[in-house]
Formats: sequence, structure tokens, C-alpha cells
Amino acid sequence: SLSIGIVGLPNVGKSSLFTALTKKTGLAANYPFATIDPNVGMVPVPDTRLEELAKIDHPAKIIPATVEFVDIAGLVAGASQGEGLGNKFLANIRETDAICEVVRFFSDPNVEHVSKKVDPQSDVDTIKTELILADMATLEKAIPRLEKEAKRDKDGVFKLETAKKVYAGLEEEHRALTLGLSDDEKAAIKDLCLLTMKPMLYIANVDEDKMDMELPEIDGQIPVPISAKIEADLSELEPDEAAMFMEELGIKESGLSRLIHEAYRLLGLQSYFTSGPDETRAWTIPVGAKAPQAASVIHTDFERGFIKAETASYEDYVRLGGEKGCRDAGRLRQEGKEYVVQDGDIMHFKFNV
Ligand code: GDP
Repeated sequence: SLSIGIVGLPNVGKSSLFTALTKKTGLAANYPFATIDPNVGMVPVPDTRLEELAKIDHPAKIIPATVEFVDIAGLVAGASQGEGLGNKFLANIRETDAICEVVRFFSDPNVEHVSKKVDPQSDVDTIKTELILADMATLEKAIPRLEKEAKRDKDGVFKLETAKKVYAGLEEEHRALTLGLSDDEKAAIKDLCLLTMKPMLYIANVDEDKMDMELPEIDGQIPVPISAKIEADLSELEPDEAAMFMEELGIKESGLSRLIHEAYRLLGLQSYFTSGPDETRAWTIPVGAKAPQAASVIHTDFERGFIKAETASYEDYVRLGGEKGCRDAGRLRQEGKEYVVQDGDIMHFKFNV
């Protein structure tokens, strides 16, 4: 599943938010590592379409897509130089698909701010610098090795050139992701797992009564406003109570839901469904994925053995009452290898094993 690392300076509300987001999901027990590492939490991707599909197919189980949140504590000024949790922090963050930075906007004077005042832009700069320094350290280690490789083969030459180009960009305080690297260049440095190659998502942890405050752009993005305090309160409630509480507060979508939807958008992800008597299930794929690639998310063998897919759009499936209704109305399509799967498609793959 999609993995998102949560970073931020101390006392910005990371742990509060992480705890609220990953609490009581009912999923944790299915994932053995959830008990091994308290800093990793698995949460279901909220998607009301699953319940609609379940009304039609009455499956034995509903299985949502999941997102893994990793609470990456210990990022402080100097982390890349081994301050705080330093290296453990860096190891955790390398595994993730995206980095979500919690930025303090709440003003509570009872909660000390590490740099003594609420200054979101300065906090963002501090974290950015640490991530850049960490990548520079990675490259400083890798470049001598790449120089040896470059003497042996041509691929090595290209890798070395790319690494040096990225290093120069980092020195100018640009994140690697913003250097406009070509696909070949990205591939050449992929195994270095540079932190600044990961897409960044920003959460503004705002005062609970300022959910609708106007937020300044960070890195060209409007941060996602979330109140860690409200999320913590919501996580204590039963679903129907939580819905009422949200209505009182005038919140349409929970912070978790907004955050995950933003992450999907940022990473270019979408969902398709499989549905039948056994289970109704959501699967996460990149936008633009063709049918065989979409099938490979279910099982890697499905991509090789792919023959065809029977598919209907979510709207048709719900409107026509499921697969039979779609077939009778001529809305169940036979699609081949080149079919680009659409968000919400109900897919039924045929394959050779
Ligand atoms: P972390 O160091 O970033 O993980 O921050 P914590 O989640 O441990 O929060 C630090 C302190 O700030 C705790 O005392 C929290 O209760 C408090 N806090 C976190 N989020 C909010 C918030 O949205 N509003 C207020 N008033 N306090 C918060």
C-alpha cells in the first residue's frame, strides 16, 4: 500500500495527528507489523463507493485500499548530522512514497515552539534544509563509488553525471524533485532513495476554531488545513457521533479523508474495484495504468497471464444494479491489454495462470 512519512519539527502536533489518524481503524490487527513498530499505522482509504457496491453484491467482506503512515520523529535542525534520532529517522523515511510535513499554525501559548515563535515558513525552510543536507551526505558517499563504476561502463558514466548534477542543484538549495530531471536521470539515481525526490505534502495544523483560515502557499501548494485537536476528538467517537460532531463544526470531510485524497492527487493515484459475493475491494493504481498493470496489483502473475477484462463504470454498475444489469444493458465492456483503467471501474480480469 501507499506509504506516507509524517515529518515536522518537534511540538507541531505530529504525534497527536498520527495517533488520531491511525486509531481504532479496526485494520491494525490484520497487519502483523502494526504491533511491532508503534510508529507505523495502517489506515483504510475512506471511499463511500465501497458501501454502494456492497449494497448490490452483498459480499462477505469489504476490503478498502490502505495507506500506511509512518511517524518519523526526531527531525530537528542538525538531524542530518546525527542530532536527535538522526540516522534511524533517515532509514524510516527512505522507505516511504511521499513525505507529509506537519506545519504548526496553531497558536496555543501553553505549547512551546522550538524556535520560540509560530513561523510556518521558517519551520518549512528548516526541514527542507535538513532533507537537502541528508541527500548531499548520501551523494557524497555515493559519488566515489560511482566514479569507479564510471571507469568500467557507460551506464556508470551517466549515473555519475546525474549524481553530480543533482548534488549541484542541492547546493543551490533546490530539492532533487524540482530539478526537472528526465525519466532516464530519475532511473539512474533511483537506488539512492534521495529524500528530496519524494513528493511533499503539507498539513497546516491550525487552531480548532480557525479551520477556515486563509493559508499561505508553501512550495507552491496550499497546505491541507487540519486540526490535530479536532482529529483527536473525532477519533474517540463512534462513526455516527463523529458525523454529528463534524456537522456541528461545519466540517464536510474528516482530516484523514482530506489528507488521503490530497496524497492520491499529488501522487497521481486512483482506485478501481473488484466486487462479487466473496468481497468488494478497492485497489490503488497510477492514473493512466493499462488493464494488465492494474491486474498486477492483485497478483504479479496476472500481468503476464492477462487475457482480457470485463469492465463497467462505477456509475453504470450502481445505476444498473451490478454485473448482470450491466451485461443485459450492453454496458459490460470487453477490454484488452491497451485499455486504460478509469477511476471507479469495476474490473473482472480473465487470465492464464
Ligand atoms: P510532535 O512533537 O510534533 O509529535 O507534537 P505532539 O503531537 O506531541 O504535540 C505537542 C503538544 O502540542 C502536545 O501537548 C499537544 O497536545 C499539543 N497540540 C498538538 N496539536 C495541537 C493543536 O492542534 N492545538 C493545540 N492547542 N495543541 C496541540
